[in-house]
Amino acid sequence: MGEEIRIEIESKNKGYPIFIGNSTSALIQKFIEENHKNKKVGIITDDNIKSLYENTISKSLNHLSPYLISIPAGEKNKTRETKERIEDMLLEKKYSRDTIIIAFGGGVIGDLAGFVASTYNRGISIIHVPTTLLAMVDSSIGGKTGVDTKYGKNLIGTIHQPDAVFIDLNFLNSLPKEEFLNGMSEIIKIAITSDKELFEFIEKNSKEILEKEENTLLYIIKRSIELKKEIIERDEEESGLRQTLNFGHTFGHAFENYSEYKIKHGFCISRGIAVESKISVLTENLKREEEKRIVSLLDKFSLPNKINEDINPNKIIDIMKVDKKTRNQKPRFVILKEIGRIKTKNKDFSFEIKEDIIKKAIETPK
Ligand code: NAD
Ligand code: ZN
Repeated sequence: MGEEIRIEIESKNKGYPIFIGNSTSALIQKFIEENHKNKKVGIITDDNIKSLYENTISKSLNHLSPYLISIPAGEKNKTRETKERIEDMLLEKKYSRDTIIIAFGGGVIGDLAGFVASTYNRGISIIHVPTTLLAMVDSSIGGKTGVDTKYGKNLIGTIHQPDAVFIDLNFLNSLPKEEFLNGMSEIIKIAITSDKELFEFIEKNSKEILEKEENTLLYIIKRSIELKKEIIERDEEESGLRQTLNFGHTFGHAFENYSEYKIKHGFCISRGIAVESKISVLTENLKREEEKRIVSLLDKFSLPNKINEDINPNKIIDIMKVDKKTRNQKPRFVILKEIGRIKTKNKDFSFEIKEDIIKKAIETPK
């Protein structure tokens, strides 16, 4: 691959560039030297990534003398306690406002480091170097930060836009297959709601994607980011259009909760995509053939889309009713008209669906 790709995110308060390439460390250095000269650099990562990439970091960013803070990997560490621990480490070393944080990892690190940066000394700069597919196309973009509590996921957090995002496809080579598929689920979701061409590209190139063929990956990552960019730029307050990103997530989130968070987000969302496509068919918006195409694409990536008979639909519906995106205890759904196009009506992008239809969609084989 030659030149890196640059996508600019525009935002009311602060825009930022996203660079996509396969040797980004030189770019990161240049960016810091040009924009954050003489600042101290703190890298926040997790133990898995540290053990894989510590040498790479020390080779490429050594002359910035970064302070490498590593936390144990996993969602269970995305907590207020971990945030406090990281803050104390920075304070202990007398890191001041003149600090730039590099979030080096998946979505857990991005959310946590973003939250730290947003409140440390009332807010310092951060750049994201996402290392999972999910973080590359989703969590590193849009500025949402946060931690989990015993009351629920992502309930405490801020919006803090990064100064830049650097995506290096090489990191995907060490990513376990399960994590790769987890990210594919979100890419497929955005293709289904917003871009038929991307959907067809993924259909035709599933083998190349699974083999991590560079140009193919580059295209789907770039396109997913452009689509998310379009959505977040047109709807910074999450008032309407941003709900598009929630397709598959009303059922998906409830199922994730029902499974007590033992099943990865992407594998709950793939089930959600199947159920919510079925709802789109049952409400006579989506053609049955299109639903079948969606399910067979999920199958190509071994993304689960069947709901076992021993699952209690009423329980899942009850969980949906208390979801934070619910209005008046009535679950709302993004509805497909066709692949690449969702239903909208009077600036509404999600719709209340009768309980018997939701139940039928869960119970009907896809
Ligand atoms: P993660 O950060 O836990 O990473 C998954 C696993 O992969 C971890 O064990 C990690 O150590 C390992 N890993 C990361 N990069 C690797 C690499 N290159 N090679 C080998 N192993 C690697 O999980 P995730 O799926 O990236 O992110 C999930 C989190 O993202 C959730 O907490 C979710 O709430 C959050 N999220 C945030 C937003 C947002 O807008 N802020 C959007 C979506 C998801
Ligand atoms: Zn999601």
